[in-house]
Amino acid sequence: MVSNEKLKDILLQVEKPARYIGNEVNMITKNLNEINIRFAFCFPDVYEVGMSHLGMHILYNILNNQDNVYCERVFSPWIDMEKKMRENDIKLFSLETKSSLDEFDFVGFTLQYEMSYTNILNMLDLGNVPLRATDRKEGHPFVIAGGPCAYNPEPLVGIVDIFSIGEGEESLVEIVNIYDEWKKSKLSRAEFLKMVSKVEGVYVPEFYDVDYNDDGTIREMKPISDEFPIKIKKRIQKNLDKTYYPDKFIVPYIETVHDRIMLEIFRGCTRGCRFCQAGMIYRPVRERGIDTLVDLAKRLVKTTGHEEISLSSLSTSDYSDLENLVIRLIEEFKDKKIGLSLPSLRLDSFSMEIIEEIQKIRKTGLTFAPEAGSQRLRDVINKGINEEDLINSVNDAFKQGWSTVKLYFMVGLPTETDEDILGIKELSYKVKDLFFSVPKDKLKGNLKITTSVSCFVPKPFTPFQWFGQNKIEEFDRKQKMLRKEIRDKKIKLNTHDSKLSYLEAVIARGDRKVAKAIIRAWENGCKFDGWSDHFDFDIWMKSFEEVGIDPDFYAIRNRTYEEILPWDFIDIGVSKEYLIRENEKANKETTTRDCRQGCTACGINTTFDGGVCNELN
Ligand code: SF4
Repeated sequence: MVSNEKLKDILLQVEKPARYIGNEVNMITKNLNEINIRFAFCFPDVYEVGMSHLGMHILYNILNNQDNVYCERVFSPWIDMEKKMRENDIKLFSLETKSSLDEFDFVGFTLQYEMSYTNILNMLDLGNVPLRATDRKEGHPFVIAGGPCAYNPEPLVGIVDIFSIGEGEESLVEIVNIYDEWKKSKLSRAEFLKMVSKVEGVYVPEFYDVDYNDDGTIREMKPISDEFPIKIKKRIQKNLDKTYYPDKFIVPYIETVHDRIMLEIFRGCTRGCRFCQAGMIYRPVRERGIDTLVDLAKRLVKTTGHEEISLSSLSTSDYSDLENLVIRLIEEFKDKKIGLSLPSLRLDSFSMEIIEEIQKIRKTGLTFAPEAGSQRLRDVINKGINEEDLINSVNDAFKQGWSTVKLYFMVGLPTETDEDILGIKELSYKVKDLFFSVPKDKLKGNLKITTSVSCFVPKPFTPFQWFGQNKIEEFDRKQKMLRKEIRDKKIKLNTHDSKLSYLEAVIARGDRKVAKAIIRAWENGCKFDGWSDHFDFDIWMKSFEEVGIDPDFYAIRNRTYEEILPWDFIDIGVSKEYLIRENEKANKETTTRDCRQGCTACGINTTFDGGVCNELN
């Protein structure tokens, strides 16, 4: 444990010391003598990013609702603090009790972004926990990980002991309960791993072997014995109204990325955008009822004092009774001036009425995601919107006094042509012209359009999982073309770092061999790779070379449907046949309807019950 004395001196010398002090409103304190399982919930990035992660708040409270468990938070210390910690031999510590990582039973990581993996290694090292699973002996914590990137856990095999695939509300409690039994027994670490491998959704990689073909592709992946499942089936919460949701969130002392109440209204999405991993892995759609949500909102406003509620989901405007939910919440909080924000509004279900209601309290910018510049390409990716949707929605918004618009696009999509790229320019300029076509008396404020163009990263469990990513030079050529074309002071063009997206693609579809390169990159000094001022592409490329791995094999290589993919052993419910069918339709530029208008047989309702699939059909 770190003494407050030692910490105090150092905190006066680093940026944002409140990142490291804890003791916020709603922080949970427990007497260490009354619990016997200590769980360090680690977010591999700085405090203000991690504290905005809904999953952490949910699992933090669920674990602490177990009498015999104490879950504490740990974040990546920023560069200046890490330097001070290493100079003063201070191990990475939790905010609740300032205990160092090696004092815990579990060190858990949430995997939200592939480029945060070097931070995982850095946190283990700072916390005096051996990086490799094989170096962790009796008495060392078990390293466990979950979250969206765990749907391809292979690049972290050898580092992480246990993966929890899918939603953790129940599986995490099952895991700590088994640990409780094991801790009372005199059985070995390996015995615990065997016991926990029986939990549905749990993957213990050391019980699986992978053999490769000469060309580096996988020949076979199989359990070392038939006591371990061949397929790992993801976990889902069937009924969200009966699923625990915190009625208090820790309230940070410093500004965080999301400084508001996150009210999760539903999980899953039925739109079927072919580039979107979340739209596939979080199926089926499961909604929370309005009464549950209003009741939760009331309690969260009381316990946090936040002045804004964000209705979070993958596609908020698809909530089956959104208008009523918004009206109920506005009715409930209008006297308290609590604002509402709808983060993910779709263009084709953009309702001005709802927006007007919401904006009575607070006016915020509007974000639209056409994703592709032409209708042809929007059909290829099955975005399911057309230009008219965008023009009508933006026109409505301008007439209502909006003047700030963000437009999200990607480059590097399958079948993309330069004409599609130029379509991004044309759409941005059309939005600009639209503003100046609205009668002057209706306009408020100066027009500001931000056109944000990211580099497409093909992800596991999407119809595009077989697609070879564009080469870095190709991304750069397309971004250069856009910079040359979009030259209007009303339109700000943001492009993403193609090299960072390339590495993200390597890790996102990597196999076990990639773990060596991640460790080497960290040994060569890589960390905070997601922060542009700390990302060093050359060190990464040198690291790949040093361990004899060709990153192109993972990023830009097209896969065949016959190839065994590193994540094929995971069952998400959506079938491989459906993903192949959708990829074929993409190549034919044909769309697939939103399955709220009729099931399109993705397969989830054959292996998972719960959700709205059955109500839909
Ligand atoms: S089973 Fe059918 S209704 Fe359910 S998510 Fe899949 S396509 Fe949609």
